[in-house]
Amino acid sequence: MPDLIHNLEAVQQRIALAAQVAGRDARSITLLAVSKTFPAEDVRAAYAAGQRAFGENYVQEAITKVTALADLRAALEWHFIGPLQSNKTRPVAENFDWVHSVDRLKIAQRLSEQRPDNLPPLNVCLQVNVSGEASKSGVSIPEAVEVAQEIAALPKLNLRGLMAIPEPAGSVEEQRAPHRQLRELFERLRNDGLELDTLSMGMSSDLEAAVLEGATIVRVGTAIFGARDYSN
Ligand SMILES: *Cc1c(COP(=O)(O)O)cnc(C)c1O
Repeated sequence: MPDLIHNLEAVQQRIALAAQVAGRDARSITLLAVSKTFPAEDVRAAYAAGQRAFGENYVQEAITKVTALADLRAALEWHFIGPLQSNKTRPVAENFDWVHSVDRLKIAQRLSEQRPDNLPPLNVCLQVNVSGEASKSGVSIPEAVEVAQEIAALPKLNLRGLMAIPEPAGSVEEQRAPHRQLRELFERLRNDGLELDTLSMGMSSDLEAAVLEGATIVRVGTAIFGARDYSN
């Protein structure tokens, strides 16, 4: 899969260049390869090219893929990034290393209760609905302060930071505004005493803006795997 390898390198270069412009160490930014709708073989090929962290949106599809790649389980990091209904939390708590899309306390409580004792705490991000958010998921900025404190107190979760999905915007300047809002909230929560280290923001079309505003995980699908086909 020469395209995949080439695309991965190109995305790594975009991250490195944006980091350089921002005066940041590119190693402080993790590339999460969003493999939703793509087969396990593509994940295996990306793994062979050095990629380790993969993001999935749909529970059933994700579990099938994690199972098909069980031989690589110790080497891979699986991140759940899609909308999560409360009746679907158990397989996520049992199979993932991270959940970026925690958008209410109830989901966090269930993930904490269902996280198996033999696994380390589940890393989670609180999804925040910043201005111009395309999806309706996520807590508002004012709500985030209280919800973050409550999630941080749950025993089997490790609250790592914040996640957002800003609406597509034209210029890098326009793209930066919602990412900046998320970073400012992140700094406020840290000043309040929460030990957060993760800002999950930036996708194929706006990863530079996100890196300029401090992203530590960028979630990139299309620019690595190509356009998605939802017809199946
Ligand atoms: C699909 C998805 C991505 C990747 O989007 P691309 O534009 O394909 O890079 C990132 N984050 C979330 C939450 C997604 O659902």
